[in-house]
Amino acid sequence: MKCALVGADGAVRHAERHPTDAERGPDAVVETILTVAEGLAGKARADGLTPTALGIVVPGVVDEAHGVAVWSANVGFRDVPLRELASTRLGLPTALGHDVRAGGLAEARLGAGRDAGHVLFVAIGTGIAAAHVVAGSAATGAHGAAGELGHILVRPDGPVCGCGRPGCLEAIASAAAVARRYAELAGTGAAPPAGPASDGGSAAGSGAARTMVTAAEVAARAAAGEELATRVWREAVEALADGLATGQALYDVETIVLGGGLAQAGAGLFDPLRVALRDRLTFHREPRLVPAVLGDEAGCLGAALLALDKLETP
Ligand SMILES: [Zn+2]
Repeated sequence: MKCALVGADGAVRHAERHPTDAERGPDAVVETILTVAEGLAGKARADGLTPTALGIVVPGVVDEAHGVAVWSANVGFRDVPLRELASTRLGLPTALGHDVRAGGLAEARLGAGRDAGHVLFVAIGTGIAAAHVVAGSAATGAHGAAGELGHILVRPDGPVCGCGRPGCLEAIASAAAVARRYAELAGTGAAPPAGPASDGGSAAGSGAARTMVTAAEVAARAAAGEELATRVWREAVEALADGLATGQALYDVETIVLGGGLAQAGAGLFDPLRVALRDRLTFHREPRLVPAVLGDEAGCLGAALLALDKLETP
């Protein structure tokens, strides 16, 4: 959990991190969220600041209008009325949002997309998720599930996605998928199960990945000219370009911001991806394709923006 006290100007005054320990179950995680939030409000008051609003963002499906964490594979949330629980405990106006949409909101308003009115933020980590931000507001969808770019069908005959369908973008181009594909072709290590990843913002690197070559290493090996890595990397870039071309057809944005672990591959990702995306566009305008700049604090900053927005339009 990344937590911060953020000023009305968007500046971070104080930041903390706490383990989620999701294996304890959703009730324990909710209790930790509330306790940490209370602690932060207390810290603010002790520092002579006045906490005015609370923003919480979580992964999965989030009903922002009703303040409910509907579903999360990672944390086990099932219809948790987190906004009400938090506002009751802290006595502050509270906004509840989605982690990737909040990260996109922060990148669009404070980060790499700040000069654009229409931004598509795509987080590529264990999974792939996106946020479509227009005029500083991220679309939530009718059911809190907008932006699941990772589940665009790009390879009907491709590997089975964590969602159960073959050929989703994140089954081919997420950091986890790149590592898995490399291990499969290299014949090293059993491929771990895909798992329904709804946390596009976090990089691959837990558990089973330890014995596997990571996506970042695949990118580095591809840049160094290794044949197998080059093949795997090219497959991922082509699939990503297909997904982004679909995104651009739908959203017609000025800027696409790529975040998450895989986006740190730098020119090794952005150069071939720009070319592949350009190849796929016909009449659509080519968007600017840029790396995220706020790092793994984007979601936390986005939570603060949601809280500040709530004060403006209660
Ligand atoms: Zn899927």
